[in-house]
Amino acid sequence: MVYKNLIGGDWVGSDRFRRNVNPSDLDEVIGEYAQATAADTDAAIASAHAASDGWAVASPQAKFDALDFVGTELLARADELGNLLAREEGKILIEAVAEVRRAGQIFKFFAGESVRTGGEQLASIREGVDVEVTREALGVVGLITPWNFPIAIPAWKTAAALAHGNCVVLKPADSVPASAWALAEIISRSPMPRGVFNLAMGRGRVVGQRLVEDARVAGISFTGSTPTGRLLRTTATERGAKLQLEMGGKNPLVVLDDANLDVAIECAVNGAFFSTGQRCTASSRLIVQKGIYSRFVAALAKRVSNLRVGHALDPEVQIGPVTDEDQLRQNLEYIKIGQDEGARLACGGDLVDRPTRGFFLQPALFVDADNAMRIAREEIFGPVACVIPADDFEHALALANDTPFGLSAGICTTSLSYARSFKRRALAGMVMVNLPTAGVDYHVPFGGRKQSSFGPREQGSHARDFFTIVKTSYIG
Ligand code: ADP
Repeated sequence: MVYKNLIGGDWVGSDRFRRNVNPSDLDEVIGEYAQATAADTDAAIASAHAASDGWAVASPQAKFDALDFVGTELLARADELGNLLAREEGKILIEAVAEVRRAGQIFKFFAGESVRTGGEQLASIREGVDVEVTREALGVVGLITPWNFPIAIPAWKTAAALAHGNCVVLKPADSVPASAWALAEIISRSPMPRGVFNLAMGRGRVVGQRLVEDARVAGISFTGSTPTGRLLRTTATERGAKLQLEMGGKNPLVVLDDANLDVAIECAVNGAFFSTGQRCTASSRLIVQKGIYSRFVAALAKRVSNLRVGHALDPEVQIGPVTDEDQLRQNLEYIKIGQDEGARLACGGDLVDRPTRGFFLQPALFVDADNAMRIAREEIFGPVACVIPADDFEHALALANDTPFGLSAGICTTSLSYARSFKRRALAGMVMVNLPTAGVDYHVPFGGRKQSSFGPREQGSHARDFFTIVKTSYIG
């Protein structure tokens, strides 16, 4: 059986499909998923377009009911869908189940957002005239998502888009169609008119590009790599589409001399290596003040070398496989680059054998790195992190901000004054104090500065800044 695309309420197949394989066990095929053609993509856009007038003005209760249905089912099936997600992406089961739960919570939150519509009424400067400022849906939005959060990112874009009255074409990453398909299947049974939500699985250069180019698609929300994001920006802005990009990160975690060492180690291990380091909010630069440096490095290297790597469904395992062969190759290349640049590999970086064939890499920790090295400047997106020494708070802050990216920045300190100063001066969209740089709430804005993001923030109430357009009405 080939899992098909959802276009205009129908499951549509094509001769082309892609085999989805488990990165923990390359002998396990998860399923075969249709690859939409350019014509399929056009049909999906046409269906969304045809449904858009109706959904934009559908009652808030109708939107609430549809989104609440999806949220309820995601929460009820979190264990089952978490298992599927862990098998297709490679994150460990506990993280995968939590991700599905989060997707459910996101749908519940945005169910509420659909009925929290409002606006402003103002007096006009003219006698006998009223002014209203309201928000309306954009129309059709194209949602392009990456492989590292196969259900949470499709959920947070889709739920926000639908709550604000938009119709959707979702294009998930090629390597993780199963979670997005499961989400689409739930949505297809929700009380939502046909065509409001469409799933177009397939290649970025076919489906994604079509969405970005088509004049009927009023907005594009993309999460993925910086080069692809830049490419989309040129095309989308050229034709005047609204654009929201979430791209890379090279997130710093600063550890000051006065930090609680246990807290700092937990933040570093979690931020750098959990989810196999495959999070855009991962702390890949650990910037450590010299008074605590040697104790921190010794304790961290001990923790990291003891991390258990293996099959994502094994309950003893803490770090799942790298998601695919390309990513593995890229990680190994950067480990070589770091060594050639003169950073010291304190532990890890080796491929490890397990009973199943998979992309298992022992997390790699570089120490005595310099912020100018490529391993400290370029996003690696894997279980590879580096420790960079800093003289004092000001030096650490300067290093933290010396990066082309600006998504998340963390500090471990017991000093209120350093924490306040860091919070104010870190050039990042999100700041964490005594917490890992990764791991965010669903009801507050998510996004970054500099080359990490473009356009309005995602998630929470701020999601409306992208998914709606402001209208000013004058009533005489
Ligand atoms: P990642 O490696 O994190 O998936 P990519 O930027 O390669 O990052 O992909 C993110 C998403 O963008 C995926 O869904 C991918 O298929 C899609 N994509 C890739 N190339 C293009 C393109 N030229 N136009 C539109 N979407 C694309």
